[in-house]
Amino acid sequence: MTFASMHLMPQLLQSVAKSGYASPTPIQAATIPLVLSGRDVLGCAQTGTGKTAAFALPILQNLSRRPVRPGAPRPIRALILTPTRELAQQIQDNFVAYGRQLALFSCVLFGGVNQNAQVEALHRGADIVVACPGRLMDLMNQGYVRLDDVETFVLDEADRMLDMGFIHDVRRIAAKLPPKHQTLLFSATMPPEVETLAMQLLHNPETVKVDPVSSPVEAIEQTLYYVDKANKKHLLAQLLREPEVENALVFSRTRHGADRIVRDLARAGIPAAAIHGDKSQNARQAALDSFKRGDNKVLVATDIAARGIDIAGLSHVFNYDLPNEPEAYVHRIGRTGRAGRAGKAVSFCCIDEIKQLGQIEKLIRRRLPVKESPWPMEVTTPSEPKPRGPRPEKVDRQGNAVAAKPPRPQVAPRMPAKAKLPAGGQPITIGKDGRMRPTAPQQPPAPRPQSRSALAKPVQRVNRHRRG
Ligand code: AMP
Repeated sequence: MTFASMHLMPQLLQSVAKSGYASPTPIQAATIPLVLSGRDVLGCAQTGTGKTAAFALPILQNLSRRPVRPGAPRPIRALILTPTRELAQQIQDNFVAYGRQLALFSCVLFGGVNQNAQVEALHRGADIVVACPGRLMDLMNQGYVRLDDVETFVLDEADRMLDMGFIHDVRRIAAKLPPKHQTLLFSATMPPEVETLAMQLLHNPETVKVDPVSSPVEAIEQTLYYVDKANKKHLLAQLLREPEVENALVFSRTRHGADRIVRDLARAGIPAAAIHGDKSQNARQAALDSFKRGDNKVLVATDIAARGIDIAGLSHVFNYDLPNEPEAYVHRIGRTGRAGRAGKAVSFCCIDEIKQLGQIEKLIRRRLPVKESPWPMEVTTPSEPKPRGPRPEKVDRQGNAVAAKPPRPQVAPRMPAKAKLPAGGQPITIGKDGRMRPTAPQQPPAPRPQSRSALAKPVQRVNRHRRG
């Protein structure tokens, strides 16, 4: 299959060639003809598969085949909703690049920056609007945005919208669309809430499925170092100095952690910048741009940058901390090895992260190959869990006390081959794979919250303005 055989117009074929794309990726080959024919599409695809061009190219073609009359007002005819500002900017950049020879205008709307420039762009007229839900809702409420003329609605990263608490905004926005329009919904995973949303928004859709999230790109070489928390900074500095590391994205679990890594690297003489939710949008974009230009070799990020961000030719991803959600591992390492290129993903695991490692290996259905370093893991006793409040009593819906379930039996954690057990430590068993595992006594299970109110709250809408 070629782009020409999909009947793309000559201007788009030239843009595609200029972008260096020789042939369509599988998601493009499947999606472009469907979108051109006006069908609704449910796309199950992770980022890095060429998803953006899969919807941007046919949208540009459909819109330019139905031009607005010269001098007539220019209403919004395509709306793309995406969860993060970086992703919104990236999608907008792609629309600009692919549509450079077409008489179409696009603009991007996201929070964290002054709205004036965005309002001006809307007043000038935009055929295509790429937006984060929070800022779009704000501008709709202020009367700057009307969606009556939208012909194509794209919901990108629907599962992430759900995680970030945007799903209600998405529903409110979708309710303002005209009754007849085309909808394209993309999601890397299909949790039940996204399936329900898809059933509500899509009409007789075609389903296109590419690379589920559990399969990281084959071109990525993955390795693992067992290393104590305190030594991670030394190991990272040493690995970053290796000549094969052209540029590296380092993932930290927390914002403070990301700032600390930047400071530690600076002390080791390695300049780095951080992007995370505590930084202003301008600072985030500036750090990302300078990294993409190659001014900075190292970018440290929280999971805000794990999805969608496209950094051409990223040679290495480092998981300084393992993520709590195993899917995030796949998204993180997917920043490298994009569009068929090779890439390396290096993960650090300390004793407190053995559980996360097990979940990741279960998800990707393989063991990460272990490498040795001058800083082998020596601490084999997990840190004490932070003290919590009194254990809440479990009650049923009527408020009556319910007997607690007996604790689940603990699965023996995986231990690193080099781990030194403390003096007088636990007896160990050496498994068939040559790895040491403690046999007994085992750690008592961490206390689990028993009532709904004690569970961590999902991301609330109060974060909306900060995030988008
Ligand atoms: P996306 O999944 O849209 O974020 O795209 C991931 C990367 O693939 C981006 O760097 C695109 O420029 C690149 N890309 C998109 N389509 C193609 C293609 N047909 N051939 C090669 N690279 C592509």
